[in-house]
Amino acid sequence: MLSVTPIPAFDDNYIWLLRQDTSSEICVVDPGDAAPVIELIEREGLTLGTVLITHHHPDHTGGLPELIARYAPRVIGPDNPKIAGIDERVGDGDEIRVMGRLFEVHEVPGHTLDHIAFFTAGIPPLLFCGDTLFSAGCGRLFEGTPEQMHASLTRLAALPDDTLVFAAHEYTLANLRFALAADPHNPEVTRAMEECQRTRDLYRPTLPSTLAREKRINPFLRAGDAAVRHAASSQGNTDSEEATFATLRAWKDHF
Ligand code: ZN
Ligand code: FE
Repeated sequence: MLSVTPIPAFDDNYIWLLRQDTSSEICVVDPGDAAPVIELIEREGLTLGTVLITHHHPDHTGGLPELIARYAPRVIGPDNPKIAGIDERVGDGDEIRVMGRLFEVHEVPGHTLDHIAFFTAGIPPLLFCGDTLFSAGCGRLFEGTPEQMHASLTRLAALPDDTLVFAAHEYTLANLRFALAADPHNPEVTRAMEECQRTRDLYRPTLPSTLAREKRINPFLRAGDAAVRHAASSQGNTDSEEATFATLRAWKDHF
């Protein structure tokens, strides 16, 4: 069995740890900080086999130099020369075998232009989407356009409904506060808010989510919904689904 658990880092990052219960070899996704990863490896006698990187931001790559120096793992990430230490640069449609599973690479520009996501079919399907899709939200547009982000999210949303969504930040509660404004009559959002508040009160992660759940509660996957469009119309252009998405993203930036 492949298990996926979070290593909390900084204020609200999760470094996802993949582990087969029969092996001491692990894979980590987006190690922004080496210290908590090293601590775990040393404490449990693990071997760092692979590192996956979704995009170039320091809170996702900052731990790489030290992990490479100590453990020399295989490092797979975007085709961006700005990220030092990647030995397999991958892009759209590439397939890689990690921890016994075949992962597909999806280019998902928007948050950054180099952003990629890793998806593996299976039971259950797993998606490591970095700062592209969050529970009840999506990444800010630092480099890409709203059109690019909308296309990237639409693509992720087309993956199987039971896909577990491993986003890189614990932003769910703040995102749900925005969702209450952007999708005000959606009882699923209200329910998710209560549920996630209880989860956070216990200091537990609200992740992973599932794509089915995100399609019900995430306003950024619901720009085509009449109620979301109506709420967004008080903030800007909602002439098309893409325009509504752009309006939602701009609204959230100053919410
Ligand atoms: Zn980022
Ligand atoms: Fe980040």
